Order: sequence, then structure tokens, then C-alpha cells
Amino acid sequence: MADIVVGSGPSGVAVATALLARGRKVLMLDGGRRPEAAALAARDKLGAMQWDSWSREDIAAYTAPCYEAPRDGQVRRFGSDFAMVPGRETFSDPTGVDLRASLAVGGLSNVWGSAVLPYAALDIADWPLTEADLRPHYRKVAQLLTVSGTRDQLSADFPDALPESARQIPPTPQARTIMSRLSLRQSHLSDLGIRIGAARQAVSSDCTECGLCQHGCPYGYIWSATATLNGLKLHPNFRYSPGMIVQSVREDADGVVLQGAQCDPLQGDRVYLAAGVLGTSQILLSSPLMRGRTLTLKDSQQAFMPMLHHWAPPKPVDAQPFTTLPQLFAELSDPAISPYLVHAQLYSWNDFYAREMQATYGRRLPGSAPLWKALARRLIVAQIFLHSTHSARINLRLAPDGRLDTKVHPGAEAAAVLDAASGRFARAMRLAGLHALTFARRDGPPGSSFHVGSSLPMTNAPAPSTSDLLGRPEGAQRIHIVDASVLPTVPSTTITFSVMANAHRIGAAQV
Ligand SMILES: Cc1cc2nc3c(=O)[nH]c(=O)nc-3n(C[C@H](O)[C@H](O)[C@H](O)COP(=O)(O)OP(=O)(O)OC[C@H]3O[C@@H](n4cnc5c(N)ncnc54)[C@H](O)[C@@H]3O)c2cc1C
Repeated sequence: MADIVVGSGPSGVAVATALLARGRKVLMLDGGRRPEAAALAARDKLGAMQWDSWSREDIAAYTAPCYEAPRDGQVRRFGSDFAMVPGRETFSDPTGVDLRASLAVGGLSNVWGSAVLPYAALDIADWPLTEADLRPHYRKVAQLLTVSGTRDQLSADFPDALPESARQIPPTPQARTIMSRLSLRQSHLSDLGIRIGAARQAVSSDCTECGLCQHGCPYGYIWSATATLNGLKLHPNFRYSPGMIVQSVREDADGVVLQGAQCDPLQGDRVYLAAGVLGTSQILLSSPLMRGRTLTLKDSQQAFMPMLHHWAPPKPVDAQPFTTLPQLFAELSDPAISPYLVHAQLYSWNDFYAREMQATYGRRLPGSAPLWKALARRLIVAQIFLHSTHSARINLRLAPDGRLDTKVHPGAEAAAVLDAASGRFARAMRLAGLHALTFARRDGPPGSSFHVGSSLPMTNAPAPSTSDLLGRPEGAQRIHIVDASVLPTVPSTTITFSVMANAHRIGAAQV
């Protein structure tokens, strides 16, 4: 019998890679959703040409659906909503939680920001695993992700962030200016407890900087789990069965039994749940092991802080070549603010800035569109993330109709820690000639960071609503959870790289 992996997102392909390397047979299931044919055709039309031969009409046809996306927490890429399940289908009351499930081939990696940074040793010192346990798996996973970046100030704290072969995608002119200004102010930065370096991105360094990152890369340079899945399909021990939505799992004398919607039960030797934190919760809360229970997710609170630079934009910022992915990472370490790192990602110009400002402020100032366009050219946005200790908790229970009832417990310290951290980042960025508009900071609702997990945290001392170091919830022998549900906490640096490393570690373990 095969091992069954539920989910083809980042955690699913990572665990499947490790299982196959151990000689196991693997059957992968997922929800099977893909972009509609028209959306794929629009993408492929651009992808078949060099960007400098695209017509205005082709670009407009590709970008319009993303500009028109509803502002309700859904993220649209490739002109399609395929990657995210609408909130009302997952939650009995979708207000107040901006987290979304995915039933897509490749999961949420179809829409992700591709920022990758491992967890710092300091941030997982209270885990039952050490940095050394994860290190070999970060290295394996970095090969799947084709990480781009360069060695710099952050390399000491995050030694496993970059493979030897990594190259950097050229930073945008704004990011280059910020870095060169800050390089002259290193001792001031260090007095502020801040280290800054280039963003590490899961993007092929073949990227030609067409600038459509936020719309879905037409060339497929931004890694999605679908790319790794396509490689797995060539393996003789791998089978893939899209479109079976798993409802519950149980163990029997021979292994595991999965029940799907409108299909016969499926038997396997073991099951590895990689359905994302919401998908996995729904499956487990519908299963004999956990029926009637409440699971509690930990959030990593995020906030967006806009900043304007005093210096003139180095060139027309909207002229290709450029990228719109995160450009710089800043790590704040100051026990007076948090015992853990506070992570910030800096974004330079993108084509949504002026539109967002017009939508938010324009109605009150008729005729102000040129102003927002001019300001957008000087705008840098810091996306700040906190450790889960300071952030909200989201209780999940199964509603009678199979959706999830939620109850949010806001993070009591979140606002204070964000105030202190954003104030500190603002002081640091002043050294680069940036003026932070702290009054305009936008704190995200719970779940909106998508850095959420820890509902069944791994522990050495099994207890209800925990799992062992192989992701097995209490009472299970052959049911392993390998997505963010089993992270003991959610540190502030990006989540997916560590989720994948941990999933790979679990798949590589001899059981
Ligand atoms: C807009 C956005 C930007 C992001 N940016 C970043 C970033 O820059 N850096 C970062 O680290 N993280 C980022 N993330 C988070 C990242 O996308 C997730 O951490 C990651 O995708 C989680 O991977 P996963 O495999 O565990 O789950 P998912 O990606 O959610 O995949 C779930 C898989 O399970 C399948 N599935 C679900 N339920 C079932 C079921 N019942 N039966 C069968 N199959 C099922 C789905 O089809 C899918 O294949 C971002 C997320 C979003 C939404």
C-alpha cells in the first residue's frame, strides 16, 4: 500500500519528495482546482513572448481582472480566483478572519509572495526541535524552491537561507538606493537593533523582470508547488489523483482509511495531511480522532506601514525591467520590544499603489489622481510581522454543515508591540531618507498574514491537541500532520520555508 499525501501545496510536495527518496510509494490527492481555460490562455499568450514585444492590449487584458478583484480578503492572480476558497465556503461566519483555504493544485503557493527566510535559532529556542534538526531539510527544500538572493548581513543569523548556487535578481533602483544609503549607517542601524539585507525570494534567477509579479508571473519564474509536482509526476513510485476532497481519516488494523466526498473509502499505509491549516482542521474535526473538539490557531500579526522617500525616484520607477516582489528584509532584535525577532519586508513601487490610494482617499479629493500617482512613485511599504506570542488566537469548531465556526481572541499585546516595532523601523528608515507615515499604518485582521498555524503543536509531552515530533496527534500512529498546524509557534520570519523543511523532516523519518 502507498503512503497518501493530502495536498499538493508546499508542505505536500516537500513531504512527498522525502517519502519518495526513502523508497516509499506515494499517492497524492488534492482539490484539483486550476485557473479557467481563458485565464490560462491569457497567461500563456504573454508567456510565449519576450515582455518587450507585449502589446498594451495584451497587458491590459492580463492585468484588468487583478485590478478588479473584490477587496474582501481574496487574492486573485493569473486573472482567476481558483487558488482561494471564498471565506463563506469555509467559515459559518467569515467576518473577522482573513485566512483562506485552498483547494487548488499547488495550494496557496499560486498566489504567495515568495519571500523565504528560515526561522532564527533564537526564535525556535523554545521548540522541542533544534535548528540542527531542521538544517539538512532547509537545504533540501531550498533546492526545490530555487531561492534567489545574496549573502549579506542576514547570512550570519540565517545560514541556511541560500543554496551555494543562489544568484540575486537585480534589486529595483529604489531598493538599491535604500541599501546604499543604509550601508553608510551600519553602526546606527545596529544601535537600533536592526539588520537589513536583500530579500530572499523563491524565484528563478532567470527572471527577466517583466514587472507582472503581483498579477501572476506569466513565465512561471515565481516558484509554485505545481512546478515541483510536475517533477514528482515523472517518478515511477508517485501517483497523483486531483479532485478528491478528503472529509475524514481514521486508522484501522491495516493502515489508514480516507473518506472523500462522493467516492469509495481509500486505504493507505500512512497518511500525511498537508491540506493547509484550515483544510487539515476540517478533516481532523470531522474524524473520529477529534470529533467535537476545538482547535486553536496562532496568528502572526501583520501590519503595513507606508513610507515616502525624500530623494527623487532614481529613474521612472514604472519602466521595465523591474520586479514588484519584496526587495529587502529587516530584522529587529530588541528584548525591550519582543523576546523574538520582528520581521519586516520592504516593497518598492508597484502598479497597485496609486490605485489603492485613489480608492482609499480619492473620493474625498476629486481630481486628486495625479497626486496619488506622484506619491506612489516615492512610496515604499514595510510589511511587519510579529511572533505568534503577541498575536491573535483563532478557535475553530466544526459547524453542523461541515464549515468552521470561529472565535477570535485578539492578541492583547499586539498593538503595543506593533507601535514600538514600527516606531523603531521608522527611525531606521529615516537613515535612508524615508519618512514613515506611522499614522497611516494598517494593522491586518487575524489570519491576514497567512502566517498561521500551531493548532496541534509538536511537543515531547503528548497531550490533547498536540502532536508528537512526527506530527502525529495524540492517539494516532499512522496519521501525520505536516503543514503549519504542527509548528510549535509561529515566528515572524516567513512561514513556508520552515513548514516545508519540517514536512521534509517528517517524511524523511524512518517509521
Ligand atoms: C497572498 C499570500 C501571500 C503569501 N506570501 C507568503 C510569502 O511571501 N512567504 C511565505 O512564507 N508564505 C507566504 N504565504 C503563505 C503560504 O502561501 C502558505 O504558507 C503555504 O502555501 C502553505 O502551504 P501548505 O502546503 O501547507 O498549504 P496550501 O498551500 O494551502 O495547500 C493546501 C493543499 O491541500 C489541498 N487540500 C485542501 N483541503 C483538501 C481536502 N479536504 N482534500 C484534498 N485536498 C485538500 C489543496 O488542494 C492544496 O493542494 C502567502 C499566502 C498568501 C495567501
